Amino acid sequence: MVLKCACPGCPNRQKPVRLRKSALPTPTDERLTFHTFPVNDPKRLRRWLLAVQRDVDFPLRYVSQMRLCSEHFLPDDFKTGQGKIRRFLKSTAVPSLPVLPRLGTKGLLAL
Ligand SMILES: [Zn+2]
Repeated sequence: MVLKCACPGCPNRQKPVRLRKSALPTPTDERLTFHTFPVNDPKRLRRWLLAVQRDVDFPLRYVSQMRLCSEHFLPDDFKTGQGKIRRFLKSTAVPSLPVLPRLGTKGLLAL
């Protein structure tokens, strides 16, 4: 299963691990991480949904399956574990860098 970033116009997808040549992340993977929506934090969830131009009343069972890629966050929104490559979002992080649809793709994104 390939996860697609929930932000409209964002082309980023998460490749299945088994397609990678090694267990270690490639340089691209290192930059791009995917994050679940804060379904247990209604206030922050609302800000996330607004950032990706979704209805704030979007059903939670769908929201919990959505992922947002790391390109919508500032470097300061991440905390890095010592000696770990994988990045984690801070519990206060809110998407602040929406990826807007490119010119020419407008109208194809019927949401
Ligand atoms: Zn994205």
